[in-house]
Amino acid sequence: MLAYSYVKQGTFELVEKPKPVLQNDRDAIVKVTLASICSSDLHIKHGSVPRAVPGITVGHEMVGVVEQVGAAVSTVKPGDRVTVNVETFCGECFFCQHGWVNNCTDPNGGWALGCRIDGGQAEYVRVPYADQGLNKIPDSVTDLQALLVGDVLATGYWAAQISHIGEEDTVLILGAGPTGLCTLQCVALYHPKRIIVCDIDESRLAFVRQHHPDVITTTPHQLQEVVLAHSDHGGADVVLEVAGSSDTFRMAWECARPNAVVTVVALYDGPQSLPLPEMYGKNLTFQTGGVDGCHCPETLRLIEQGKLDTTPLITHTYPLKDIAQAYELFEQRRDGVIKVAIAME
Ligand SMILES: [Zn+2]
Ligand SMILES: [Zn+2]
Repeated sequence: MLAYSYVKQGTFELVEKPKPVLQNDRDAIVKVTLASICSSDLHIKHGSVPRAVPGITVGHEMVGVVEQVGAAVSTVKPGDRVTVNVETFCGECFFCQHGWVNNCTDPNGGWALGCRIDGGQAEYVRVPYADQGLNKIPDSVTDLQALLVGDVLATGYWAAQISHIGEEDTVLILGAGPTGLCTLQCVALYHPKRIIVCDIDESRLAFVRQHHPDVITTTPHQLQEVVLAHSDHGGADVVLEVAGSSDTFRMAWECARPNAVVTVVALYDGPQSLPLPEMYGKNLTFQTGGVDGCHCPETLRLIEQGKLDTTPLITHTYPLKDIAQAYELFEQRRDGVIKVAIAME
């Protein structure tokens, strides 16, 4: 089969690999129909994910059809259309039992697919702990509608869920990339009084205004005054930092009102400073990232009900044979690209 592989730092290549086989009775083999490209794939390519194993097939956000299951798999069967979870988790350890599946203590727990074990930018993928890692797609939901369920939508859903959003709140979201846009949709489920989205890219802000006319948009340049003008208590009640730029952590806590919740979803390239003397008296609550991606059944239900729709985010689709061009487009952010889907046939 064809698989897009991490050859060495700076190089991904479409190579021929043997079709994966079951290695454990809790595994499943999934015939991938659609996979997407994530910015984490680019982080692997550029060598900023030290855990990534050279030679692995990349891709950790995909949907497909179950081809084969191990003897201990009970929730899915061959022929089921499924979403694949970015995270591998056993469902049984202390962390899994608390819903903190990102910290599953299994040796392959957390983000393994497409990083430490073969992922899904390929015709087939082996999914460990299939009962946990696969979720059936409802009949009325298309593959394209479900494509982002396992990774960026899971992240947005988790971020909104842990942020204690109330109906009187002004919620500030920093970053309108794919994860920021998913976060926006999930924050809207809590009906806060106002949502403000900040991004440096005008075309992303135009996208927000087009799809979410009630949302206030701003560039970092005007951020402080926009937040002050649209918050009741001198700053945002909740801030979700989904940008991960060098100065967005500072923006996040500076724009927060005293006693606000600041949820840091972003993954930074370098350390951030927490200038405690400057923020003394603000009494902020910080929550730091690492999605616990175990709410896919809920997000699939919300998609089915029409309350979440990430299809406008998938701006381009390429066949697997042209995946190198798809990466180029995604990396160079050409043609208004937000997310790229790779179709396997
Ligand atoms: Zn990802
Ligand atoms: Zn576990």
